[in-house]
Amino acid sequence: MMKDDDIMHPEDRKALQMLHKIPYIDSVCRSIIETEYEGLCRGENLATMLKASSQSVPRVFHLMKATCQRIGLPMPEVYIYNDPVMNAYTYGETSPFVCISSSSVERLDDRELMCMMAHECGHILCKHVLYNSVVRFLHELGEEFGIISYSLSGPIYLALQYWSRRSELSADRCAAATMGEETFQRMTMKIACGLSDIGCDPYQLVRQAKEYHGHENHSLWNKIQQNCRMAFYSHPQAVNRAWEIDRWKNSYMYKKLRRETQE
Ligand SMILES: [Zn+2]
Repeated sequence: MMKDDDIMHPEDRKALQMLHKIPYIDSVCRSIIETEYEGLCRGENLATMLKASSQSVPRVFHLMKATCQRIGLPMPEVYIYNDPVMNAYTYGETSPFVCISSSSVERLDDRELMCMMAHECGHILCKHVLYNSVVRFLHELGEEFGIISYSLSGPIYLALQYWSRRSELSADRCAAATMGEETFQRMTMKIACGLSDIGCDPYQLVRQAKEYHGHENHSLWNKIQQNCRMAFYSHPQAVNRAWEIDRWKNSYMYKKLRRETQE
């Protein structure tokens, strides 16, 4: 059984400690989710998406079940939504659920899809769901009401975005530990380009990461440009995700978890 401590990226832990210093952040986040969001999302899922079961999209249902078994996590509800963008997300605090886009189901093979599911399970395992849901809530609020709500929620929003990017790195570790780093790299490549046929080399993004870091560190201006752009991202760039896992694959913890989750 995997524990949150096994996969938590040190920067995620650090960012979480920073986040906890904001007064009342926990109670504010929880009340936003409970009063505003969880019920609304669950209703919307049931109304507009397809819930996976042993009869409906059984492939997704059984792969999710197998993924949760490997991690040692109770199985959340899984929904599939119609979207050409390959993506997945998890919501909710009391009973989290996972939503996966139709293009991911179509273009990822079984192992890669389990890897994507394991990433979402990583968020649940590390209890990221609470803050992640709020990041999304504030983002949507910002989109709806524009600049006014951004100025109100701005500093808290950027702090949450910063943490959200770090939390992705922990979830990626859960994915790599559950399905192997090579499968993780293939999944990340497919998400980056949106294609199902990416050839047989799983390490292109790792090489691109080296090229990207060279570009970023070429001048101070390049570095400032890249960092300013990143402040508003909810996810780290694909190359950095690939790079982080490529480094982590040599760690004692990765090897230990691989032995334990080995198929
Ligand atoms: Zn994620």
